Amino acid sequence: MQKEIICTECANRCHLLVEQQGEEIIVSGNRCPRGLKSGREEFLGERVTVHGFVRCGEEKIAVQTSKPVAKGMVYKVTLALKRVKVDGPVSAGMILAENISSTGADLIVSEGE
Ligand code: SF4
Repeated sequence: MQKEIICTECANRCHLLVEQQGEEIIVSGNRCPRGLKSGREEFLGERVTVHGFVRCGEEKIAVQTSKPVAKGMVYKVTLALKRVKVDGPVSAGMILAENISSTGADLIVSEGE
């Protein structure tokens, strides 16, 4: 089984190829050790990108975390979305909250908004 993953740990956004061979998880395409950890965790489903909605007046805006967060933080991030208020126009990729729930990920407007 193989999966292509974009490492979001830094601005280089390396394209990782992660594959499982027996018990071993092999990551390639990373330029540094952080990519090994990030690729492995995302491949195994230990980290996920959180998607949701926040209010902007009477409308709801689709949002997501800027990078995958630990699965154990998903509920906390989901709760935090209820406290995020947005005024004015938004565009895809706009940061609405930095370091949401201390995960290291920002809350951004999803693509297609
Ligand atoms: S593998 Fe390293 S250099 Fe590449 S995006 Fe991830 S953190 Fe950045």
